Amino acid sequence: MAAALVLVHTATLGSELVPLGECAGRVPADDVHAPASLPADPVSAVDGFAVRSADAGANLGILGESAAGRPFDGVVRQGTAARILTGGVLPDGAACVVMFEDVKVEGETVTVPSGLRPGSNFHTPGADVREGELVIPAGLQLGAAEIGLAAALGIPELRVGRRPTVALMSTGDELVELGQTPGRGQITDSNRWALLAALREAGADVRVLGIAPDRPDELRTLVLAALRDSDVLVTSGGVSVGTHDLVKPLLESLGTVHVGRVKLKPGKPFTFATLGDGKVAFGLPGFPVSSLVTFEVFVRPALRKMQGFAQLHRPSLPVKLGFDAHATAERTEYHRVTLRREGSDLVATSTGSQSSSRLMSLAGAHALVRVPPGDQGLNAGQMVEAMILSLP
Ligand code: AMP
Ligand code: MG
Repeated sequence: MAAALVLVHTATLGSELVPLGECAGRVPADDVHAPASLPADPVSAVDGFAVRSADAGANLGILGESAAGRPFDGVVRQGTAARILTGGVLPDGAACVVMFEDVKVEGETVTVPSGLRPGSNFHTPGADVREGELVIPAGLQLGAAEIGLAAALGIPELRVGRRPTVALMSTGDELVELGQTPGRGQITDSNRWALLAALREAGADVRVLGIAPDRPDELRTLVLAALRDSDVLVTSGGVSVGTHDLVKPLLESLGTVHVGRVKLKPGKPFTFATLGDGKVAFGLPGFPVSSLVTFEVFVRPALRKMQGFAQLHRPSLPVKLGFDAHATAERTEYHRVTLRREGSDLVATSTGSQSSSRLMSLAGAHALVRVPPGDQGLNAGQMVEAMILSLP
């Protein structure tokens, strides 16, 4: 299968040390183990008194106070207690914390209830994280909680997978820049913006190269320059078999084309090549929906592999088809759907005409439903696996 072939020819890039503040969305290259325990000390979970459990029911002399950041250095012996605030270190000798609500304070003494449980109302060292414990596995995307955890453990920077640098180019003589008024026969280059967004979401560091004309020499010069400082080339347009389709012959002359056509709708002319030095090129179809669907199916997983993501693919979920989905002979169709909840089901509704030029079929879509090739199609009411883009 073409998607597997693309992954076989895509290597994980190296890693780099990145300050924690810039790690959001990145992927640790190695397992992260806790360099210390959390909490490091026994700390109170409540405001109250630190006492010995043997002193249950007694009237105790108050020795002092342990507040967060200001520990009490004395020892709680028989007949004594120390005032303690949330986050305060449990003084030596104490076995539990009694909540303020449960005691009676009179002057410099406190009466504590009977039946004290040792270990209650404080966190023991290592209760949250044990020293040496695996806290963030390699390949897991770093989000707010993982970054907070690293900070709590005193880790100022993390070794993360390098982000692929991607040169992005649109091809076609009919294209004009966004902001210019298209003349007769011209259209605005929209793929650049769609793919720029998709590439960034996938973690790429994108260099936008603009529009290449449908002239082999100019295209070749632009591509060669682009490849000098990029890991990946992504083009759109110019891959079908018309006289102006130049990308595939160019990639053939520069490296090895592994995929030159796929049995996919939309996206038949998708092209993938390796160019030596670990560089790869994706020639995406020109039609806007085709370029984005082939991006989802082939490019996004490859970019994630380069960064070391453990999870390469979008999640999939079983959904109930709310319509009959017609099949195409010989080609798997990715039908764009919206989802809504009905009881315990996610029900899929078609986004309407699935024309590969109609971005409205993808805008707002929650999922892609794979319709196997053939003449059968899928029927309303059937449960199918859907590739989830977002959930309603
Ligand atoms: P091509 O693969 O070059 O034959 O293009 C197929 C169709 O996609 C044509 O109708 C093109 O005008 C359209 N197309 C190609 N590139 C873009 C682009 N960057 N933005 C919007 N539409 C495009
Ligand atoms: Mg073209």
